[in-house]
Amino acid sequence: MVVIYAATNKKISCGTCIPVAGGNMEFTTEKLRGELKYMESMANHTSWHAGGRAEFFYKVADLDDLCSLLSCLPEDIPVLWLGLGSNLLVRDGGLKGMVIAIAGVLDELELTATGQLHAGAGVSCPKVARFSANAGFSGAEFLAGIPGTMGGALVMNAGAFGSETWDLVTSVEMLDRNGKRCERGKEDFVIGYRHVELNDNEWFINCKLNLVRGGVDECENRIRTLLAQRAATQPIGQFSCGSVFRNPPNDYAARLIEFCGLKGKRIGDACISEKHANFIINQGSATATDIENLILYARDTVRQRCDVELIPEVRIIGERIDGHA
Ligand SMILES: Cc1cc2nc3c(=O)[nH]c(=O)nc-3n(C[C@H](O)[C@H](O)[C@H](O)COP(=O)(O)OP(=O)(O)OC[C@H]3O[C@@H](n4cnc5c(N)ncnc54)[C@H](O)[C@@H]3O)c2cc1C
Repeated sequence: MVVIYAATNKKISCGTCIPVAGGNMEFTTEKLRGELKYMESMANHTSWHAGGRAEFFYKVADLDDLCSLLSCLPEDIPVLWLGLGSNLLVRDGGLKGMVIAIAGVLDELELTATGQLHAGAGVSCPKVARFSANAGFSGAEFLAGIPGTMGGALVMNAGAFGSETWDLVTSVEMLDRNGKRCERGKEDFVIGYRHVELNDNEWFINCKLNLVRGGVDECENRIRTLLAQRAATQPIGQFSCGSVFRNPPNDYAARLIEFCGLKGKRIGDACISEKHANFIINQGSATATDIENLILYARDTVRQRCDVELIPEVRIIGERIDGHA
């Protein structure tokens, strides 16, 4: 049974039509067990704590529920999968269609005696790092400081301290728009720096990682060291999405932004961190527009002063307040 919370917080029962972008969306299946919200603020679901509303927001109950949802979702409804929202800026005009939230749901975690780790796409990266370390397997320690899900880490090829997610991957399982599952090997993907090419309308539901034996103490010490290194150099605990820009070849985005004198530069409540120039902090009430304008300001300044084109690592999606994407 689906419960829909309208903007008024009124509960609408399953089977009710809701107007969607000029048409209607109707859930007729009795199989759905997740939670559907209407006009949900994405500020509640992104690490910047800013951004517009999602027309529909569905928190899945489990994998079967997710497959049922996809099999009954009208084809013309755009879909966005959401992990922990730690690499997303949703513009203030919001998102049309449906956000599908999987964090903490597709959360299976199993390790074989030979170091094959099976992780659901909704498990958090720090959990994968600690689980592996506690079992005496090494390789995933760098994930400890990345505050996203494994699904998000696969999409972004998240990495830190010289390691990247896809260094560990042997295979993944995907789900398509019709709710059909298929397994793919690492060789099926074009993988780059903070980038993996994906087919449209296919998403990660789990992955297999190859870890190597290492002492429990050594793995845990490594996690402690890496987290301490982060705390010393990054504004941990403040609202951000980590590094805003990819590092350009043979250089660092933070060095270029700092060189341009932009540390501390503010637009509204969005501010370039004094501690790490590639982090933009929401100091309380920044809008997505403030944050995006500051991203553009930093990009343009670096282009003019250093002749380097910085490319955002963060994904900027949704519509501007004026209605344009
Ligand atoms: C304090 C801080 C530190 C950070 N440090 C690092 C770092 O060291 N290294 C690094 O690489 N990143 C870092 N990040 C960025 C971020 O944590 C990573 O990019 C992370 O992998 C994003 O995961 P997520 O679950 O939050 O993804 P989301 O932000 O929820 O989504 C990101 C994109 O992936 C898509 N997506 C999510 N899940 C799936 C799925 N299962 N299948 C298909 N598509 C999916 C979304 O649609 C979206 O396009 C940091 C962020 C913060 C806030």
